[in-house]
Amino acid sequence: MGSLGGNGSPLAWVAIHREHHRFTDMDKDPHGLSKGFFRVQFGSFIDTPKIRYVPDLLRSKFHVTLHQYYWLYNVAYLILMYSLFGVPGIIFGYFVPTLLVWHAGSFINTINHRLGYRNFETKDLSTNNLVLGYLVSGEGWHNNHHASVSDPQFGKKWWEFDLGYQIIKLIRK
Ligand SMILES: [Zn+2]
Repeated sequence: MGSLGGNGSPLAWVAIHREHHRFTDMDKDPHGLSKGFFRVQFGSFIDTPKIRYVPDLLRSKFHVTLHQYYWLYNVAYLILMYSLFGVPGIIFGYFVPTLLVWHAGSFINTINHRLGYRNFETKDLSTNNLVLGYLVSGEGWHNNHHASVSDPQFGKKWWEFDLGYQIIKLIRK
């Protein structure tokens, strides 16, 4: 379901995300603000994932298949929405949620590398942002994420509610 958000397949998303962490806020950062706000906010669909960042996922038939058929299941979902609800199904079942998810992710890349507060003195410009922390289900605690990249719990302070981590805890059981 996450790959219906306009950010590519999980494999592509992970490749770009890992490259972001490798070159955070440098010229080689795939969504670094040196490329300009509008390019990062509106142009993520032209980011090119580099497969050298995902050797582990390339060994997974599941992820390779998801990547290969990314457009096919997006179109299939569109057809399903149209079949069930007509044109409103396409608009409110696909395009509106896709645009919201796509821009939410883009705001993390733009706002969360400029505006907010920092709990950790990382080598990058990452910040925690109260508005995005709550609106994007915990992703807005971005400085915490950059400080400990393998920790699924982004919220560290009592006020940093992390819905994503609560869901992870729920499905982990
Ligand atoms: Zn970042």
